Amino acid sequence: MPSFVTHLESALDGSSLPADVPQSMHKDRPLWVRYDLAAVGRHLRKSDLRDRAPNMWRYRELLPIPDGMVPVTLGELQTPLTVCNRLARQVGLERLWIKDESQLPTGSFKARGLAMALTMAQHFGIRRVALPSAGNAGGAAAAYAARAGIEAFVFMPHDTPVVNIYESRLAGAKTFLVNGLINDCGRIVREGKQAMGWFDLSTLKEPYRIEGKKTMGLELAEQFQWRLPDVILYPTGGGTGLIGMWKAFQELRHLGWLETERMPRLVSVQSSGCAPIVKAYDAGQRFAEPFANANTIASGIRVPVAVGDFMILDAVRESDGCAIAVDESEITPCMQRVCALEGIPLCPEAAACVAALDALRANNWIRTDDRVVIFNTGAAQKYVEAIRADLPSIDLRQPLDWDRIAIGQP
Ligand SMILES: *Cc1c(COP(=O)(O)O)cnc(C)c1O
Repeated sequence: MPSFVTHLESALDGSSLPADVPQSMHKDRPLWVRYDLAAVGRHLRKSDLRDRAPNMWRYRELLPIPDGMVPVTLGELQTPLTVCNRLARQVGLERLWIKDESQLPTGSFKARGLAMALTMAQHFGIRRVALPSAGNAGGAAAAYAARAGIEAFVFMPHDTPVVNIYESRLAGAKTFLVNGLINDCGRIVREGKQAMGWFDLSTLKEPYRIEGKKTMGLELAEQFQWRLPDVILYPTGGGTGLIGMWKAFQELRHLGWLETERMPRLVSVQSSGCAPIVKAYDAGQRFAEPFANANTIASGIRVPVAVGDFMILDAVRESDGCAIAVDESEITPCMQRVCALEGIPLCPEAAACVAALDALRANNWIRTDDRVVIFNTGAAQKYVEAIRADLPSIDLRQPLDWDRIAIGQP
């Protein structure tokens, strides 16, 4: 089974770089992986997919896995696309789905990108990797590095959700807490390259994580019978998910696999506590300014500086989408509301998308008959800080009071 990769391409200026050696960036900006799509089209028909296992590797011809290589995997099954009729009714939509990425290994969509990145790291014989993470990337990198037999270093802001900190250490990564933000952690990784000889796995600083994330778009298209929804709400931090999905749709269009010319409008969702992309979008800029004093409970989107800012903004604009910040105070109530309504525990990042949906319904940017998909990028259960609640207790020395129990009161 051949790899159809032809080369890597600078997202900034289109320069071509060879794909047969490890690469990171070009002029400090990310690289696209390019394929011979005509050859992919001759080799693979979409009907061939029917006989393949329901996981992200079923799109192998559209991934950079080299000839004969067995991917580094923890069992990344296709994630459910769940119809949400109660939530749809509540927001005045005919059709609404949640694509539940929390069911992937390590509980977030980060598994897709890091499975792919560690597969390529193993292929290139890389022995040591490092990355900054303020959330789920650390645990996913640690787990896939363990799986690949590669040493991992993870640098996390001191206020990273505790489960993320411990899961990374549990998987054997050398994990450090830093009294700064994710970009400070990123600097440690950059500065340590010479002395430590590690490969930088930061978001978009190597080309392959995006290819793993791309499978979200491929999978969504297949689940929608190649017709694609009208609107996709996606929480945006570093932007790989949104960029990867947009790349997937372009490649599918090139292959002629889509049943429609119409592309989904991509909505990039951020929090008022950290909204550099929304600020740049509103100002009509292609590059974003660093966002000062970034702070949000949705740690996955607490990214004040993104190297792929222009790629996010390009995708949003090309798709006729928009970028929107929701008030930080809306996030935890939305987690509670959707889980109680649909039984799906949304991570804070996805809960922000629900608040964005409310706003975009209110001004009718999203219409009643739009087919809308929200990505639940991670598991709420990993955010102990956000789901903690004071619960009524029952004192066994007192008689049971059924009237109070009926209304959930102590
Ligand atoms: C990392 C992360 C995000 C942001 O993803 P990007 O693709 O880097 O923008 C959103 N939600 C969760 C749960 C995350 O872990």
